[in-house]
Amino acid sequence: MRYKAVKGTADILPERAGGRLELRRMLETVSQNVFRKFGYREIRTPIIEERSLFVKSIGEETDIVAKEMFSFKDRGRRELVLRPEGTAPIARAYLDASLNKIGPFQKFYYIGPMFRTERPQAGRMRQFDQIGAEAIGSMSPEIDAEVIKLLAAILDEIKIRDYRIRVNNLGCKDDKAGLSKTLRRLLARKKDLLCGDCGRRIDVNPLRVLDCKDGSCRDIVRGAFKSVEFLCGECREHFKKVLTCLGKLKIEYTVDPYIVRGLDYYTRTVFEVSHSALGSQDALGAGGRYDNLISDMGGPPVGAAGFALGMERILMAAAGQDATALPGEGQVVYLAAVGEAAHDKGFELINLLRSGEWRGVSFDMDYENRSLKAQMREADKSGAWLVLIIGDEELSKGGVTLKYMRLKDRAQEFLRFDEAAEKVREALTQC
Ligand code: AMP
Repeated sequence: MRYKAVKGTADILPERAGGRLELRRMLETVSQNVFRKFGYREIRTPIIEERSLFVKSIGEETDIVAKEMFSFKDRGRRELVLRPEGTAPIARAYLDASLNKIGPFQKFYYIGPMFRTERPQAGRMRQFDQIGAEAIGSMSPEIDAEVIKLLAAILDEIKIRDYRIRVNNLGCKDDKAGLSKTLRRLLARKKDLLCGDCGRRIDVNPLRVLDCKDGSCRDIVRGAFKSVEFLCGECREHFKKVLTCLGKLKIEYTVDPYIVRGLDYYTRTVFEVSHSALGSQDALGAGGRYDNLISDMGGPPVGAAGFALGMERILMAAAGQDATALPGEGQVVYLAAVGEAAHDKGFELINLLRSGEWRGVSFDMDYENRSLKAQMREADKSGAWLVLIIGDEELSKGGVTLKYMRLKDRAQEFLRFDEAAEKVREALTQC
């Protein structure tokens, strides 16, 4: 019996340097550096949470809650889920640890797996990784602009080009309630034209019709939307300030009145970032403000905003363009030794080299005492930049032959053992 990875999940294999795992690690490092610059601190929350945390915060009528959660009961018959997103768990953790008492304003970032039972396709997995940020404890429009800037800074740092930022303002809780009421009235007249799901959404949450997979439902609600002016004065003012801040931060964006986001907790600013190279699943990331989530969960009345970027989508966008700041192939140095005495010396040398300070260089060797030809084939396969060869002749002269594998003529030179580290460092810069 051979097992396969569960549908919609993937193994990220330890490929050679420059492979997918290494790209991910680089993306994490780049993001962590940007987060640090913006004053965000890492938080890690559990993979499992109580089901009701998401039902209450994301909303019962959303696709995530209604159709996409991995739910199960534990032995105590508690209803648990694999977390489908990061915001609600972080809000829970913030309150659980009374972080608001230490300081009401806290900025967090996270990198980790999320789970949704969506139909898998390119760019849509059942387990995927998100890079996200949450700034909890401020109503300032500068925070809305800052989280958008933060997201853009990560994409810029990796040199992702041609992404598009669209922003909107959903209004406060009262504005959203007023809008829902109006939409309910307008959509009720067109109920026959809507799909079954949307017929139900009219009563429960008419804004969700904007997320319907059926384009004609979306057109109908968009038509109804056009005639509605629903933002209160304060929300209008807030939005104006957010856009001014975005201008000051030199962020290019368009205002799109139909972005509502697939989660109910959002209020005021919402945004989505897309990339044309991604096809039908073109969202790189999204986020917004959620001013009632903390208080709805029993906490103080503090505002908050955040975003989540899809890691797989970023890597897809990076792969589709000529160059990014993510690494090309890493540098591999391979040691090939012929004969037992040479092998012993080689083992010593490679470990001596490893003990030095190197960035992005890996050292490897053959452990099976195979023929030189077999070892050279292995070096080629591992993408070696340099091969260090030790045989009887080298041993007698007290050194190794260094072969430049990336130069056309595969030139060679002799190095003494005591100068090997320094010469290898030099040679890597010449490849
Ligand atoms: P959301 O939490 O739905 O706003 O998603 C934020 C980002 O996570 C999206 O823009 C995608 O880049 C990514 N994402 C969401 N769902 C998936 C999925 N099923 N597979 C891969 N990436 C996803």
